[in-house]
Amino acid sequence: MSGSTITPWVVGNWKMNPIKADALQLVENFKHLLQTNPIDENKCHLGIAPISIALPMVQANFSSANRAIYTVAQDVSKVAGTGAYTGELSAELLVDSQIHYVLIGHSERREFFADDAAALKKKIGNALNAGMTVIYCVGESLEQREACQAETVVLQQICDIASVVESEQWEKIVIAYEPIWAIGTGKTASPEDAQAMHAKIREGLTQITAKGANIAILYGGSVKPENAVELAACPDINGALVGGASLNAESFYQIAQAFANTK
Ligand code: PEP
Repeated sequence: MSGSTITPWVVGNWKMNPIKADALQLVENFKHLLQTNPIDENKCHLGIAPISIALPMVQANFSSANRAIYTVAQDVSKVAGTGAYTGELSAELLVDSQIHYVLIGHSERREFFADDAAALKKKIGNALNAGMTVIYCVGESLEQREACQAETVVLQQICDIASVVESEQWEKIVIAYEPIWAIGTGKTASPEDAQAMHAKIREGLTQITAKGANIAILYGGSVKPENAVELAACPDINGALVGGASLNAESFYQIAQAFANTK
């Protein structure tokens, strides 16, 4: 047991996967695992971020699970409300479809879709103002880590959004620390390195907000059943954002179980 009072989160990021039939099967398999061997809601929040067109379908299928499993959008528009913005999906429209959770700032969106600090501030402001819970992703590149800039980069990414988060809205923020060099590469940060960065993030958050001690900080980057227990044992690692391993129901379930049992 790590002694933390923060309920851990284990969230699967399906990215641009899988096809509909496989998504439905994955949901069924995961529900079956939870039915057979339940994971208490008070011990671990669970979420899945499917492609946007699958959000209502996944949500509907999870409604028959024996516990809450959040359906999480992978992104949100920097434009609020409704209007002539072809291709965009606003926070208000997500909430209108009962989607109350969103990933913002994933490194793939920062790298390939021009999600810079200005865009991310708008997205976070819109999501929070619409009442959504935001999982805000931060993380350094390999070059930045090798140049000993990892902490500065990550803390700056947190500071980038501080001005748009009202004091009471910090309750709706979850941080996901995802070193870019560990995403989809099979390389995981060592528990010591991950814990050290999480402790720095925690310190930074407590300087920004009185709620800093209670904000969940998830680790992401090649989390799998084989490393989940060690990561979960770190005091400032309050869960996992899981990419590849979330496309296998058994692996994702085992990661969730590791966090639920260790915390
Ligand atoms: C991610 O995409 O957020 C992620 C952590 O991916 P993976 O687990 O595959 O490294």
